[in-house]
Amino acid sequence: MIADGKIIYLDNNATTQLDPAVIEEMLPFLTKFYGNPSSGYQFAGQVRKAINRARERVAFLLGCQASEIVFTSCGTESNNAAINSALQIDPSRKHIVTTAVEHSAILRHCEALAKRGCAVTFLGVDRDGHVDLGELEQAIRPSTAIVSVMWANNETGVLFPVEKIAELCREKGVFFHTDAVQAAGKIRIRLGESPINFLSLSAHKFHGPKGVGALYVKRNSRFQPSIIGGGQENGRRAGTENVASIVGLGKAAERAAESIEEEQNRVRAMRDRFENGILEAVSGASINGDRAARLPNTSSFYFDGIESNAALLLLDRHGVCCSAGSACRTGSGEASHVLRAMYSDEDRARGSLRFSFGRFNSDSDVERALEIVPKVVEKLRRSSSPTPASAQPALESLS
Ligand SMILES: *Cc1c(COP(=O)(O)O)cnc(C)c1O
Repeated sequence: MIADGKIIYLDNNATTQLDPAVIEEMLPFLTKFYGNPSSGYQFAGQVRKAINRARERVAFLLGCQASEIVFTSCGTESNNAAINSALQIDPSRKHIVTTAVEHSAILRHCEALAKRGCAVTFLGVDRDGHVDLGELEQAIRPSTAIVSVMWANNETGVLFPVEKIAELCREKGVFFHTDAVQAAGKIRIRLGESPINFLSLSAHKFHGPKGVGALYVKRNSRFQPSIIGGGQENGRRAGTENVASIVGLGKAAERAAESIEEEQNRVRAMRDRFENGILEAVSGASINGDRAARLPNTSSFYFDGIESNAALLLLDRHGVCCSAGSACRTGSGEASHVLRAMYSDEDRARGSLRFSFGRFNSDSDVERALEIVPKVVEKLRRSSSPTPASAQPALESLS
């Protein structure tokens, strides 16, 4: 087993370390307070209260009302539930509009729905990673049930103008959902009077536990549950609550909300120092996506002349955890669908690496990464350039 003492963890968009304050908050709900929150006696009532406190904390993070929060098992479930609901509300509407750069929790689901008779429009993006709003507007038809566009891209960090898109959808009378799994807890979200109907988030992307998420359902937005059974979550998601994890999500939301601006500045400073250091040290390196309209923690780099899977192997030997595109694609051998959509350049998609920073990174992580990454890139280029016949790069350790 490799513990975290020796690693440089720069993969916070894949998952994050649990905040110790979150664990502490969760523990009593794995031990002492095991009552079923739906039971009538006081012993269970205190568990119900803890769930409602968590609901208020998540609502505070999003600037919405507690009654608009539905707890789910993960970001993926939240995404699936929003789209399934819209398709059930009006069975005559079987068209979905989304983008080509969504997480697989949207893309694969839409592809499956397309096989079952739905029509799906996957909007392309430009080199900066942006969708064309005119094109989006034109894609909406009378049969469109829902538009789903992510708030922040998990591979490049590029931010989408979701408020504007939601307004457009409201005018057209179409539901709007945003996958905000990468945005929640990292940038300020104020749903208040926002026209966004549905929003997904996931605890483990902001220092909460894995296997718990939430779906924001705007008040008065019609919603049909996907998981049907008991009356939990006000009839919007059946199944006995994952109490400890929900409590953990609440604590993680509270921790994120109390310091979001300071954290953003601290993490952005680290990310920028890393990027500037790499750009200085490595020729033929460039950043993928709009550098301005981006999450403060994400850095997606293209290194001309390298193969990202070989780079990941070498970086792993030096304890650097990062990824080529999203973690969900690792091992599939497929180049990033996000970068292919942006650049229509297979080499760029195959030679890119994502570094993502978080609360538990420090300047020393940046320094070590700045020592290791340029050496790895240089080594890969040396080993691959003179003899194209030997496609397999040498993987002995660095000098
Ligand atoms: C991680 C991620 C998801 C999936 O969330 P899970 O809780 O792991 O199911 C969905 N969308 C985006 C953008 C993500 O980064």
